[in-house]
Amino acid sequence: MSDIIQLLPDHVANQIAAGEVVQRPASVVKELLENAIDAKASSIKLIVKEAGKTLIQIIDDGVGMSVTDARMSFERHATSKIRKAEDLFDLTTKGFRGEALASIAAIAHVELKTARAEDEVGTEIKIEGGKVIAQEACVTPQGTSISVKNLFYNIPARRNFLKSNSVELRHIIDEFHRVAMVHPDIKFEMYHNNTEVFSLPGSNQRQRIVRIFGGKTNEKLVPIQEETDLVTITGFVGKPQFAKRTRGEQFFFVNDRFIKSAYLNHAVNSAFEGLLKEKTHPSYFIYLQVDPKSIDINIHPTKTEIKFDDEHSLYAMLRSTIKHSLGQFNVAPVLDFDR
Ligand code: ADP
Ligand code: MG
Repeated sequence: MSDIIQLLPDHVANQIAAGEVVQRPASVVKELLENAIDAKASSIKLIVKEAGKTLIQIIDDGVGMSVTDARMSFERHATSKIRKAEDLFDLTTKGFRGEALASIAAIAHVELKTARAEDEVGTEIKIEGGKVIAQEACVTPQGTSISVKNLFYNIPARRNFLKSNSVELRHIIDEFHRVAMVHPDIKFEMYHNNTEVFSLPGSNQRQRIVRIFGGKTNEKLVPIQEETDLVTITGFVGKPQFAKRTRGEQFFFVNDRFIKSAYLNHAVNSAFEGLLKEKTHPSYFIYLQVDPKSIDINIHPTKTEIKFDDEHSLYAMLRSTIKHSLGQFNVAPVLDFDR
């Protein structure tokens, strides 16, 4: 018998990786927004059509790319953000896997336009089936515009699996909000089917949250603040009387990344103990800054789960900080007389 093991061709490997990175249009939005932020954009515009199924375009005014980098950016494991394994423990960027653009290009039609401040002309690249099919010089402002068309065009099973436009749009807006909440200084705009969905001018953390969740939010917010060797905690919790039956407005950000953590959620809930009506959930917008060396974000491709070195201390710290703030604001328990 002859040998039977072969290395997969790049475009097949990329399609497989895409399965992990890109679950739906919102995943593309997340990756492209993160790239724009890593590129130091001060203004980011998202244009989607049909809930991202036919078009997702992100235009940023960041640093842009050289001709060679523009081509290189679509290669698998191609990144400007880390160079060696140790860098993984000291990350200051959102991306580092060098997989997003290669994955997206394997499952959609992609057009890139980019230019740096020093470039007289920019670069335009078109990709189909993971391959560059056209490249030319073009006139384009400093920054990058990436259009992702016909997502999953070559994976019908995935395309058919997508939910209705309203559900997929909801996921996109959620991703957009999460990113916008950690970067209040950046201006964000979003258009869906040529209609403005929102426009967020650069502002501060509190105003950004209020702008996203509506004018009444301002009166609900209790600021929280704590700084120790382990962690810096900032953000807001909602006053108990505004707690809701749904869990919609609950956000943890660690080092400027949205994360999910049942454990930390438990810490927050325990700080609210005795203050909430039964079956209601407090709103919270909590920002934790920790030493990048004390967390591992490389446990899942979408990076929404992370591992903390010292979870228990974090739990205790968060709980006491929130309790303290609620106490300072003289928050009285909500007594359920009408039950
Ligand atoms: P990663 O973000 O993990 O490095 P990506 O596949 O998302 O991997 O991007 C590959 C590279 O392409 C990035 O490291 C960056 O150098 C470049 N790049 C991607 N998007 C942009 C952008 N909007 N502006 C400037 N450079 C970009
Ligand atoms: Mg990236």
